[in-house]
Amino acid sequence: MLNIGCHLSASDGYSAMAKQAIEIGANTFQFFTRNPRGFKAKEIDETDIAKFLQIVKENNFVKILAHAPYTLNPCSADKRVRDLAKEIFIDDLKRMEYTPNNMYNFHPGSHVGQGVQAGIDIISDTLNDVITKEQTTIILLETMSGKGSEIGSKFEELKQIMDKVKFKNKIGVCLDTCHVYDGGYDIVNNLDGVIEQFDTIIGLDKLKAIHLNDSKNQFSSHKDRHEKIGEGYLGIQAIEKIINHSKLKHLSFFLETPNEIDGYAKEIELLKNIYKD
Ligand code: FE
Ligand code: FE
Ligand code: ZN
Repeated sequence: MLNIGCHLSASDGYSAMAKQAIEIGANTFQFFTRNPRGFKAKEIDETDIAKFLQIVKENNFVKILAHAPYTLNPCSADKRVRDLAKEIFIDDLKRMEYTPNNMYNFHPGSHVGQGVQAGIDIISDTLNDVITKEQTTIILLETMSGKGSEIGSKFEELKQIMDKVKFKNKIGVCLDTCHVYDGGYDIVNNLDGVIEQFDTIIGLDKLKAIHLNDSKNQFSSHKDRHEKIGEGYLGIQAIEKIINHSKLKHLSFFLETPNEIDGYAKEIELLKNIYKD
């Protein structure tokens, strides 16, 4: 069975997102933990959480994916910016425990002139400051397109961050198909090779989720502009191969394509049609 979801708006709460996911044929979803501008989080409503837990149980949902605000920079040169990221991670992880055993994705950040190595060290220090032995949430580092001074566009960088994290069973990777293609991994012409590279450098056991997006830009463009499924430079054939690849097909795929809810429903239907059980 294809495990599929898309990015949903969290404004109406958890149970509303789960209901919406079911309506569009999904068995999971992604959402922002808080407003990416202003960082305000919706207050936890325990009745809503209870409803949510019931719905996901009855409908056999797989792990949902929370996304940290993309406006944070956990490896900024400015201490206040770094501290804000840390504070938000801690609060998000606390909130995540109301819906235990799910996943939390974040962008490693931009080193803005400090250099890749310094950035890697700061990110792993931040992770060590926020991860607790007790948490049930798995934190995912997202593969990035390498825009500006972004860290995480190379598998080696993610591996180095993870190597320095103390509680290794609490971290993994979310591979974004638009980002890796923009970042210089040719998943259109050499999917097997890229998967092999990932396995050699990071280990496929660390790959926990896929952001399934087409790309508005050409290979290795380092731009990060998502396109609708089949309408970008990846194309439907490459996407068909990705969701059916023997090393990937068991994972959960999260759409972050430029769509409203109807567009997501159509993409989910299309993907289910080309997925081979
Ligand atoms: Fe992201
Ligand atoms: Fe993404
Ligand atoms: Zn992106």
